[in-house]
Amino acid sequence: MRSRNLGEADKIFTLFTRIAGKVDAVGKGVRRTKNSLGGRLELLTESTMTLHRGRSLDIITSAVTVRSHWTGLTEPRALAAASLIAEIVDMFCEPDLPLDEIYALLSNASPAIAASASPSALVPRFELRLLHALGLAPPDDACIRCGGPFNDHGAWMDIDAGGLGCEGCYGARGDMHSLDVADVENFRALGAPRAAGMRAAINATPKVARAIDDLVTFHLGRRPKARAFLDAFAP
Ligand SMILES: [Zn+2]
Repeated sequence: MRSRNLGEADKIFTLFTRIAGKVDAVGKGVRRTKNSLGGRLELLTESTMTLHRGRSLDIITSAVTVRSHWTGLTEPRALAAASLIAEIVDMFCEPDLPLDEIYALLSNASPAIAASASPSALVPRFELRLLHALGLAPPDDACIRCGGPFNDHGAWMDIDAGGLGCEGCYGARGDMHSLDVADVENFRALGAPRAAGMRAAINATPKVARAIDDLVTFHLGRRPKARAFLDAFAP
């Protein structure tokens, strides 16, 4: 998901692993031109790795690429979207906590982003599915304040409460953005797993994309840095 330099020739890689979740590990000598390990540790490349347990940091002793989408991800908009999802997962996840659902999300999103003509359009669904996997997604059928249903005026995004509210609680307030009925339906479909029989949506409406962006910022306490990078490509 991320790497930073260590000493003169090494790098610390933040990995998302199937068996242990987020792990920091050192790639020895990866910044030397003759080192072949570095080329196999590009952003969102899926690998089988052997790690040696170190006293403070693990050391990567081997890496065999399983799937790499690096060629597609070097396209600037794809790289921006890939950087953003990697940063968000890194920020949300605690070290050494296996999270199969999030591993699967990352594993599926990488090829989709690398192959997409519009990679940024894939980010809101990824973010909402991630919030669901973390148990942080707000109810999509009930008001965050009173628990009541949404009516045919849609719903209101209360970013200070991290959820959607009903017309009765929020309709009279002019200071928050509203979602119409189609947006609320889109929000539900975006959050639905693809296999659940519900109609899962891939692309967010503009209002829903903004609402999900706000939700992620609400839970992280700040905007991810890569968001600005991705926004620079917005139409
Ligand atoms: Zn309400």
